[in-house]
Amino acid sequence: MAKHQELRSKVKEILKIVEQFTIKVNSLSYEEQKIELEKYKSYLSIKQKPQEEKDLPDIPNRPERVVTRFAPNPDGPLHIGNLRAAVLSYKYAKKYGGKFILRFEDTDPKIKPPLLKAYDWIQEDLKWLGLEWDELYIQSDRLELYYEYARRLIANDDAYVCECTQEVFKNYKNSGLACPHRDRKDSLVLFEKMIAGNIEEGKAVLRLKTSMHESNPALRDPPLMRVIDTRKHPHPRIGSKYYVFPLYNFSAALDDSLMGVTLIFRGKEHLTNSLIQTEIQKKLGLSTPFS
Ligand SMILES: [Zn+2]
Repeated sequence: MAKHQELRSKVKEILKIVEQFTIKVNSLSYEEQKIELEKYKSYLSIKQKPQEEKDLPDIPNRPERVVTRFAPNPDGPLHIGNLRAAVLSYKYAKKYGGKFILRFEDTDPKIKPPLLKAYDWIQEDLKWLGLEWDELYIQSDRLELYYEYARRLIANDDAYVCECTQEVFKNYKNSGLACPHRDRKDSLVLFEKMIAGNIEEGKAVLRLKTSMHESNPALRDPPLMRVIDTRKHPHPRIGSKYYVFPLYNFSAALDDSLMGVTLIFRGKEHLTNSLIQTEIQKKLGLSTPFS
C-alpha cells in the first residue's frame, strides 16, 4: 500500500476482494488450502518470471491458431475458482502466440445480477496480475445478435417456444416425451412477442430441438432463451430495454464460435454444458472449440 499510492483510494474495494477471498479460503480444509496454495505459487509468479511460460505442458492435438477466453460473470470480484481459468487461458494464449479474450457474461439480471463496479474490479485485477487481454466483449451489448441466431434456429425448425412450466417440462423430459409445443408452427410469432415484452416472465422459453430420446436428459431440448422482467429486475448496464435473455449455454456457444475461440479450459462440471453448446453450434453450422 505504501509503495502504491494509487491503491489507497481503492482500499474499500481491495478489502472486499480480500474479504471474499478469506471467506472462500476459510471454507476449505487445511489440505485443500495447501493444494490451492501450491497452484497459486506458480500462477502468481507470472509477473516475475514470464519465461516460465515455456514450461507449460504442451496441449496434444491443439488447434493451429490458439484463441482463448476468460468469461466471468461481473457479479463480484475475481475469486479462486475463476482465477485459475483466467491464468491458464492467458498463459496458453501467450505460449502459442495466440489471442486472449476477456468476455463479460452478464445476461442474468435476475438470479445473478451483474454489479456495475465488478466490470472495473475484474479488469483492474487482471491487469494487476499481468493478464492483459487482446479483445473485450460484453454480452449485454450482444442481445440483438443472439436474437438473430435464435430466429435462424426457429426458421430451420431447430428451436421452438415452449410454454410449459419448468415442472411440467421436467416430467416430459424425464419420460422422454415431446411436450405439446414441440411441433407448433407459430414459434417465431411467439418469440417476437417475448422480445416485445408481451409474454410474462416464466410463461415461455425458447428450446433447442434436439431429441427427447437423448440418453442424457440434460440434452433433451435444452432451453436457449427466457423472459426476464427487467421492469422488475433492471439490468445495471442496459436497464429495461430488453426482456429476453440467453441462457448461459446459448450465448457461450454463439460467442465462442463467433469470436473464433479455439481452446477452452473448463471444469469437469461443464461437461454437460459443453455437449449442449456443441449441439447448438452444429445446428447453426458454427465451429466448436477444443476443450
Ligand atoms: Zn412445452
